[in-house]
Amino acid sequence: MKAEVDMNKGVAERESHLWNAMHKHDPDAKKMVAVSGEGSWFKDEEGNAYLDGVSGLWCLNVGYGRQEIVDAAAEQMKKLSYFPLTMNHQPAIQLANKISELLGAAYQTFFSNSGSEANETAFKIARQYHMQTGNPGKYKFISRYRAYHGSTMGAMSATAQANRRVKYDPSAPGFLHVAPPYSYRSLYSGTPEEKDLRAADELEEMIQWEGEETVAAVIMEPFISGGGVIIPSMKYIQRVADICQKYHVLLIMDEVVAGFGRTGKMFGFKHAAGVQPDIVTMAKGLTSGYLPLAATAVKAEIYEAFKTEGKDNHLRHVSTYGGHPAACAVGLKNIEIIENENIVNRVNELGESKLIELHDLMNHDNVGEVRQVGFLLGLEMVADKVTKEPLSDAKMGEIVGRCKQKGLIIGKNGDTVPGGNNILIIAPPLTSTEEDLDFIIETVSSVIHSM
Ligand code: PMP
Repeated sequence: MKAEVDMNKGVAERESHLWNAMHKHDPDAKKMVAVSGEGSWFKDEEGNAYLDGVSGLWCLNVGYGRQEIVDAAAEQMKKLSYFPLTMNHQPAIQLANKISELLGAAYQTFFSNSGSEANETAFKIARQYHMQTGNPGKYKFISRYRAYHGSTMGAMSATAQANRRVKYDPSAPGFLHVAPPYSYRSLYSGTPEEKDLRAADELEEMIQWEGEETVAAVIMEPFISGGGVIIPSMKYIQRVADICQKYHVLLIMDEVVAGFGRTGKMFGFKHAAGVQPDIVTMAKGLTSGYLPLAATAVKAEIYEAFKTEGKDNHLRHVSTYGGHPAACAVGLKNIEIIENENIVNRVNELGESKLIELHDLMNHDNVGEVRQVGFLLGLEMVADKVTKEPLSDAKMGEIVGRCKQKGLIIGKNGDTVPGGNNILIIAPPLTSTEEDLDFIIETVSSVIHSM
């Protein structure tokens, strides 16, 4: 085996020992190798340009190629290349303080490297918190079907999509799942809000049936993203928060996708007035993907239970690279850009003046529903609008493939949901220009109309 790769050979002919993520082992999938990126666009080795309509893996909030972020990382690496957070360094303190400010209340932040780890950290904190506050029996976690919370064993156990789990089960004990607020395919009748509130009732019932003394936390995204862009009524989120409070169950808000402007607020939960989660997990948009970094922010009251004062109460959890100084410096610069460029308002305005045009596709026979919050869109594709039969995998693949041929990368909820992977996903960088957004609208519309 040679380590050097013959770059003169086409990608498909090259010997590659790279194992791609979520990759069906067909040679076609390997044909594109990205080499550079600028704004919302990246280029492959052959010079083809693509608009990245899913922001990498929903993470490139401020787009590719921001020199000021590169500089922030380089300067920090020159100053202090590494330091563990068993002690302190300045960028980590500054970023933790900034996160607390943005969340709008006093939170204490633990840093790690990925969204999965941020959620694992939240689970450990939740269990230990209950143990140290007189409720050692509270160990169960409730999440919603269709949710994705990560790939590691605990986070996968909270992920409630059979296809992501069946080959790796048994997953961790103590993870329970309840129906999502998915009004388009609800078992209940009524307005979307009424249907969503029934989903909240089911969650309350689950806590009662399981015994509130056994339930540690509910973990939820404000808007289920990977599981199909499901946008509940805000009353649902408020009601879940109330239920959590009533049964002394912690509310873990997974802001890995929604955080840092994606939905037109700095955090997705801020759409639901009065909700202040006990724990907030974040990753992706925290650094816009420039370096790996994730955070688990915990309300000050919860952190109190970990103060030692002679007891052995501290959190027995550590991550070698979590809160790497360069990653924290990048996080701070990234947030500075989001604030200085008024990106959250921009997402609101352009979401409503531009991307909203995609709702016109509702006139098409195969578009069952268009769901949107800010720069996060899901198009639920159906073979039949009355029966709501999901559009076939083959047709979904064709739509995504044709967009790619035209230079636009969009996503579909990947191989996850029983009955179909029938939701197209559009989540461009939050800095996309109006022309970029026009290109997305035109390309997606023309491809769907040509089907
Ligand atoms: N939570 C959510 C909502 C996610 O979408 C993801 C990743 N797509 C994760 C957690 C896990 O993040 P990571 O891939 O960084 O582990």
